[in-house]
Amino acid sequence: MNLVFLGPPGAGKGTIAALAKERLGVPHISTGDLFRAAIKQETELGKQVKSILASGELVPDSVTVEMVRQRFENSDTDNGFILDGFPRTITQADALAEMRKIEYVINFQIGRDEIVKRLSGRRMAKSSGKIYHIIYNPPKVEGIDDETGEPLIQREDDKEEAILNRLEVYERQTEPLISYYREKGLLIDLDAKGKPESIIEALLKVLGQ
Ligand code: AMP
Repeated sequence: MNLVFLGPPGAGKGTIAALAKERLGVPHISTGDLFRAAIKQETELGKQVKSILASGELVPDSVTVEMVRQRFENSDTDNGFILDGFPRTITQADALAEMRKIEYVINFQIGRDEIVKRLSGRRMAKSSGKIYHIIYNPPKVEGIDDETGEPLIQREDDKEEAILNRLEVYERQTEPLISYYREKGLLIDLDAKGKPESIIEALLKVLGQ
């Protein structure tokens, strides 16, 4: 199944994708995670995008599309995938349509207040990318990853100022994709409030799984 997860930052796309990939048996491709891995490994791409990610702006379309094109060369995507955080612009969506046939686009719906609450409390394990929330999904020991014991970090772009910028960028550049995909008959709205366990069940139901 070729899926796109669309929605504002903080809608829970990454959390639900991590659950859905097990249930659907397809890889989870997060362009944000790919960029963060490149930054951590200090590759050329990482150096190029580091300050862009910290500000919450978008990486140029040409760079992002090329990264996704290379990711699709891996045969693990032959039987489906979940794209999380891509496409984020109409240009990217047009490029994606040339590369793969998308079956469903899941539109994660959530209010602005809830987004800010989720993002400002979000914490991450740096090596695995596992996501926690200080209130909604806390680790067993405060500030520590359950699996590796490493300290959790707050993403630079989850700090207040960057959050507001990311929301603005989303509204300006990514929200138009909702009507783009609705017009193509691919869009499925999903209520993204509530606990991950109930959202994943609702998702599998609408996908007929
Ligand atoms: P995310 O983890 O999806 O919130 O992405 C983190 C950051 O990576 C974004 O704020 C952008 O700077 C960059 N990024 C991720 N995906 C894309 C994309 N499809 N196009 C451009 N920039 C992206």
